[in-house]
Amino acid sequence: MSFDLSARLAARRADNLYRQRPLLESPQGPQVVVDGQPLLAFCNNDYLGLANHPLVIEAWQAGASRWGVGGGASHLVIGHSTPHHALEEALAAFTGRPRALLFSNGYMANLGAVTALVGQGDTVLEDRLNHASLLDAGLLSGARFNRYLHNDVASLAKRLEKACGNTLVVTDGVFSMDGDVADLPALAREARAKGAWLMVDDAHGFGPLGANGGGVAEHFGLSVDDVPVLIGTLGKAFGTSGAFVAGSEALIESLIQFARPYIYTTSQPPALACATLKSLDLLRSEHWRREHLNNLIRQFRQGAEQIGLQLMDSFTPIQPIVIGDSGRALRLSAMLRERGLLVTAIRPPTVPAGSARLRVTLSAAHTEAQVQLLLNALDDCWRKLEPDHA
Ligand SMILES: *Cc1c(COP(=O)(O)O)cnc(C)c1O
Repeated sequence: MSFDLSARLAARRADNLYRQRPLLESPQGPQVVVDGQPLLAFCNNDYLGLANHPLVIEAWQAGASRWGVGGGASHLVIGHSTPHHALEEALAAFTGRPRALLFSNGYMANLGAVTALVGQGDTVLEDRLNHASLLDAGLLSGARFNRYLHNDVASLAKRLEKACGNTLVVTDGVFSMDGDVADLPALAREARAKGAWLMVDDAHGFGPLGANGGGVAEHFGLSVDDVPVLIGTLGKAFGTSGAFVAGSEALIESLIQFARPYIYTTSQPPALACATLKSLDLLRSEHWRREHLNNLIRQFRQGAEQIGLQLMDSFTPIQPIVIGDSGRALRLSAMLRERGLLVTAIRPPTVPAGSARLRVTLSAAHTEAQVQLLLNALDDCWRKLEPDHA
């Protein structure tokens, strides 16, 4: 008996599903150096251009001077420091929720929230296109796990009829690979009518969406009663790292008691919380970032439609170009790269089979001229991309 890893790897390669990590040799931003090549990138999640912002860097450095570098222990032991606490209070105020709890990252916030809230005898219902961390959390919880059709309230309602125990309905706010927005008012109504709780992971909505960057909850004006469990991540538009859960006093106290990915891990560096406090400040107050981003989104969609590219139903910075075949998506990505542009191909199992795509993401750090360069290159490549012979 032995592990035949090489056969597994060879099969993945043969299926055009092999993954490689581009080596980033510069800070995050529109202009990057990757594998020694200067490129104009349209694939990070730094939607507001805060990941390399001088004031955020300065806050990080000042935080490190004042608080040191390491968290030192878990939150429940001696790792919960003043900057973590201040950030939680600022995030609660920002989301209009009674409290917020800081996690090390979004994956762990999702695992922690779902597994603390439901278990054997309960039910968790998820949109079938939810982020992997939410699907994993549902499976790990031990609750009855079921997926409803994408953003389909009728499909959810049917499953709610059969639900037992405490029932958690879980959805992305902005779907990470499609860019569309969950129909939260309808989902919230349906969940409330059945006594279920709605949990929304708004990793991609905080920052770009809502008048003050408060994401889908602010966009739709949904209260803590509509969305009892609201998740945000800090590695995307906030430009730093970490995540939070916002909700009622009872929710947050329950997570502190029962969320294992919260309890059994070292707190994030306090200096990181200092940096996030600054980026939260910029995210809320610098409205020009959202306005400029929305202009770029309009510009891109208009240009892409003229070229004849197939876009998705998205008004967010996530603007995927649907290709279908994985090999063809890789070829288009490679052709763009030859022209100095970096747009990653996203393939199964990250997206459903037969729906490989180029996931274009726009950022307030891009200029109109840079978006035009992307459109010009897409126009050229799209006409030269050979049809699929498979
Ligand atoms: C990125 C992402 C996560 C994971 O967050 P990390 O902080 O990167 O671990 C969770 N949910 C969604 C929808 C995401 O896009």
